[in-house]
Amino acid sequence: MCGIVGFVGKKACADILVKALKRLEYRGYDSAGIAVFEGDSLKTVKAKGKIDEGLVRKLSEETPLTATAGIGHTRWATHGEPSDINSHPIGNGRISIVHNGIIENYRKIKEFLISKGYVFESETDTETVAKLLDYYYKGDPMEAIVKTAAEIEGSFALGIIFKDFKNTIFAIRRESPLIVGKGEGESFIASDVTAILDHTKDYYLLEHNEIARLDENGARFFDFNGNVIEKALHTADWDLDAAEKGGYKFFMLKEIHEQPEAIRKTITPRISDGMPDLSECGLTPEKLRGYKNIFVVACGTAMHAGLVGKYVVERIGRIPVTVEVASEFRYRNPIVSPDDLVILVSQSGETADTHAALTLAKDMGAETLAIVNAKGSKIARDADMVIYTHAGPELAVASTKAYMVQLAVFYLFAFELAWARNAISEEKCRSLVKGLEEMPALIEKVLEKPDSSQFAASKLVAAENLLYIGRGLDYALSMEGSLKLKEVSYIHSESYAAGELKHGTISLITEGMPVISVATQTDVFDKTVSNIKEVKTRGAYNIVVARESRQPGSDAADFIITVPETDDILMPMLAVVPLQLIAYYTGDLKGNDVDKPRNLAKSVTVE
Ligand code: GLU
Repeated sequence: MCGIVGFVGKKACADILVKALKRLEYRGYDSAGIAVFEGDSLKTVKAKGKIDEGLVRKLSEETPLTATAGIGHTRWATHGEPSDINSHPIGNGRISIVHNGIIENYRKIKEFLISKGYVFESETDTETVAKLLDYYYKGDPMEAIVKTAAEIEGSFALGIIFKDFKNTIFAIRRESPLIVGKGEGESFIASDVTAILDHTKDYYLLEHNEIARLDENGARFFDFNGNVIEKALHTADWDLDAAEKGGYKFFMLKEIHEQPEAIRKTITPRISDGMPDLSECGLTPEKLRGYKNIFVVACGTAMHAGLVGKYVVERIGRIPVTVEVASEFRYRNPIVSPDDLVILVSQSGETADTHAALTLAKDMGAETLAIVNAKGSKIARDADMVIYTHAGPELAVASTKAYMVQLAVFYLFAFELAWARNAISEEKCRSLVKGLEEMPALIEKVLEKPDSSQFAASKLVAAENLLYIGRGLDYALSMEGSLKLKEVSYIHSESYAAGELKHGTISLITEGMPVISVATQTDVFDKTVSNIKEVKTRGAYNIVVARESRQPGSDAADFIITVPETDDILMPMLAVVPLQLIAYYTGDLKGNDVDKPRNLAKSVTVE
């Protein structure tokens, strides 16, 4: 959500900033801009809309910029509509800033500044920071930053430039992410590493309330008292190839195809001698035996991974699991005790609500486990234990491979927990682990035949509404199928427990309305087929995802997509693939920008 970039070096920086901003497009945004040291002044160019259509067009109308230092921003509006004036950088002739996050007490600060004679131009909360910096700036940037940071509340990552301090960038953060890149004779700031990989893989992680100062001599770090802080240099293990489309039309399709590899990378280091081994994160059999309840707290797709996790953990581990969206959990005063384990799931590790839920769970004394993709992210650092998924960079806003590896981790967790608690035999545990190891090859088989998903998509493209139904694990999975379709095709769809339909929702079925059923679970197969027939009788067009060996008859299904055989428990990993492909192809057929769906952001760093 929103991207910050900054560059100080010897080359002309406008193109570098624009290119870096483009690398952050996947995070979602509605406007973009840059501010650079041009001659003796600060020059700002910014515009509403996509980078190419707004910012780049405006830059092409200007005399080419020669500046060698500046800051840039892609904004995802929280305060004030997307517009040129509300776009960042924001400032006056002597200070300019880019901001990711929300200033919670901006109203109070704004009133104060108005009383001091300041006049506001934008509707953003960010402008209060720019003006407060200006208010405190008496020639010493550090002093102004420290005084400002002490007064503002909420979340922020800030890139700041002062006209008087030519070719110098200051940065500070609290909550919102920010890294500082170290190149050859050049330095960067960025919301994440993807933005700087064209230039360097070396970076520092800026911590809360640390101030970075970048100039032609490199980057230095300070605390609020002006003391120098020594920081560890990290090296990114993601290269740029991994962040490019590799021949696929959209990142989403590429990432769907990367799932087998992502699973291999995620599970291989956690299997030892045919048994699950999560000891690397500190999960011992004693701990797994001790928990009374498990909570899974997450948002969106990550929450759906948790739902599958719940069904699996409860089924084989026999321990109660509550799954909850983080934005509810954090505000409803949940009942969590020190005997409980709270699992936080987040691709980016920066999801604001999930992080707040983590803090709450820790305050309540529970042990916390993060399942996160981005190394060194906030949730990963603050949780008691962390299991990294190894999905690599996921650039499509609609998550696919990150979901898949979250499932993989839940499976390993469930197997280890069930084994530690003597709920399954060693033999069963080994056979489940083997099934998981076979999963990448089975998914590859499903991916070899996208035709049936393409055909299903052709049946959905004209629909205005549709339903996803299933029972048990199929139901948990159908929620993710429905969300994926909504995200990329903009078609309204809901997911229902198949047995619940006739208690109300079946009234929505009209002639020709598509219903996508997932019917892979052996124990409830006949029941699900009855529900599929019920909707067919009322005119639905039934698309059914079923296992090869057990398919509904033509009296129930209009079109069947089959997946290969595996254990019932592992089926969601296979069955989700056609659901992802259906969503992708439907979005593409509709001509949508599948990778960047409207109104959505990749990493939701505001609550
Ligand atoms: N709250 C700021 C705004 O609305 C920054 C939003 C962002 O993180 O992009 O302008």
